[in-house]
Amino acid sequence: MSNILNPEEKYLTRRVLSMQESQTMRISNLANKMKAEGKDIVSLSAGEPDFPTPDNVNQAAIAAINAGFTRYTANAGIPELKKAIVAKFKRDNSLDFQENQIIVSNGGKQTLANTFLALCEEGDEVIVPAPYWVSFPEMVRLASATPVIVHTTLEHEYKMTPEQLEAAITPKTKILVLNSPSNPTGSVYSETEVRNLMKVIEGREIFVVSDEMYDMLVYGDVRPFSPARIPAMKDWVIVSNGVSKTYAMTGWRIGYLAGPKWLIDACDKIQSQTTSNANAIAQKAAVAALNGDQGIVEERRAEFEKRRDYMYEALNSIPGFKTALPMGAFYIFPDVSGVFGQTFNGVVMKDSADVAEYLLKVHFVATVPGDAFGAPENLRLSYAASIASLEEAINRIRRAFK
Ligand code: PLP
Repeated sequence: MSNILNPEEKYLTRRVLSMQESQTMRISNLANKMKAEGKDIVSLSAGEPDFPTPDNVNQAAIAAINAGFTRYTANAGIPELKKAIVAKFKRDNSLDFQENQIIVSNGGKQTLANTFLALCEEGDEVIVPAPYWVSFPEMVRLASATPVIVHTTLEHEYKMTPEQLEAAITPKTKILVLNSPSNPTGSVYSETEVRNLMKVIEGREIFVVSDEMYDMLVYGDVRPFSPARIPAMKDWVIVSNGVSKTYAMTGWRIGYLAGPKWLIDACDKIQSQTTSNANAIAQKAAVAALNGDQGIVEERRAEFEKRRDYMYEALNSIPGFKTALPMGAFYIFPDVSGVFGQTFNGVVMKDSADVAEYLLKVHFVATVPGDAFGAPENLRLSYAASIASLEEAINRIRRAFK
């Protein structure tokens, strides 16, 4: 026990005190604790694929270790990986970048944190459409800027309209954050929708941070369209992506960023004085992932699509649940406000935090309450779980709200 009274308040900076703990981690920790106690938990709270890392990727890492590839690398990433990233952008996204426009970081998270640190300071505003990925507003605050949250609706498939964007812009607007496919809603902006949003900001000295982490996980005939495809936006769009979700490599910590060279150089500088290069062995593994046979990506995408179809039908048949059809990623985000005000297990459901707690503690189903994503009427369910687990979860949820 410390002898100092209230050390947090006395010594911690406003920067860290104003941050919130990641809610997704909190509920996962609670679910893990209950699992460790022997409870039969069905967890739909994970933010990572349930598949293993492909074997060719594992073998490349083992070969790297055996070859002694275990030292510092170039801060911005090994040339071989940058080449593979340039080729990936061309192959999958029809984007042309030079190697000096790429930096490799410790996960998509670090690419984004570096970008906000490089571009934001006090007084700057960053437009973040809600529901948002939990870390966007916190990263913006950590960089001393102010997140401006724009609430989207189920009727618009949780996508921001050009009118909403126009209304959110002020002389202080520095960045617009786009995340398509979205965590947590699974929404994907069509080419037309991206073009219409870009028309609003073109010529106004506003950057677009485009988080395309789930670009390879899209369903039906949907194809994601990067704002970096628009020639007029070339100097203003920064694309963040990584191998975490596409190749089930969340623990390897490899993300990458592409954009104007001056900004990549700034991120390089920040990274050189904070973490240095991303893990050398994982960089070799990422080369194998990006350059190897892509068949496994399609196989897994197709499996996620089946699960999405199942979850969409099943959740919409539960009284009080309303959900949009996710077009990408591996999350579904029902509006559960239809059960608010009702009493279950002696507790009145006031918001989705109550719903998530009830589902976890009484029916042993782990989900994430939507307030973590700026949407207190929703619940996030991840379908990165086997169909058998999803069916079990749905049976329990159905029972819970009978
Ligand atoms: N961006 C989005 C939208 C995400 O959902 C995630 C992970 O959950 C990340 C970025 C971060 O990915 P990484 O694990 O590579 O840091």
